[in-house]
Amino acid sequence: MGDLGNARLAKCSEELKVRETVQFIEEKREEGFEPILFFGIGPHEKHRAENLREFYAHVPLEPVETRFPMIEIYKEDVDVKPIIVKEWKIRLPRMYDLGFSHANCGGRCVRGGFKHYALLYKVWPDRYKQQEDMEERFRQKFNMNVSILKKDGGPYTLRQLRERFEHDPQYLEDLLSGNVCDVEDTQGAPCVCTFA
Ligand code: SF4
Repeated sequence: MGDLGNARLAKCSEELKVRETVQFIEEKREEGFEPILFFGIGPHEKHRAENLREFYAHVPLEPVETRFPMIEIYKEDVDVKPIIVKEWKIRLPRMYDLGFSHANCGGRCVRGGFKHYALLYKVWPDRYKQQEDMEERFRQKFNMNVSILKKDGGPYTLRQLRERFEHDPQYLEDLLSGNVCDVEDTQGAPCVCTFA
């Protein structure tokens, strides 16, 4: 059985980040090291720090120490983007300029919400189509009525959303401006760092 992934469940992130981290920890321990995990999350994500601390206290064979220097040092979030650009002279990934909340996975994040996919459709319709096709292949292969997005408590496919954009361009603009109340949006749901 496959997992398509959505705002609550992101198998991709578990495989890419969490499983690799746990394996790395165990490998390093076998080499005689005692790893410490540092997470770069800020004060507004304190709740994630608790989850991470709890997770890494139990999931590896032995508990592993976790540290959160940005939470320990700063009381409020620091906007690091101007520092990176102006002081360090490093350009940010273009996705930030385009309005995305993060630059992961080329905009095809399974934890993105309606606004995220509206933006992807507007700036990169080809990528939107790739994600739409992936979702369709998944639905056919596993014969399941599932989707990345949810609406009215049920599946709402990227194909449905694209077709609505094509018939009602104002809906696209309303989603982009946040002027829509018929969807429970999840834009900005972070890429997970623990198993669900
Ligand atoms: S950014 Fe999104 S699609 Fe990429 S690994 Fe994280 S949850 Fe999955």
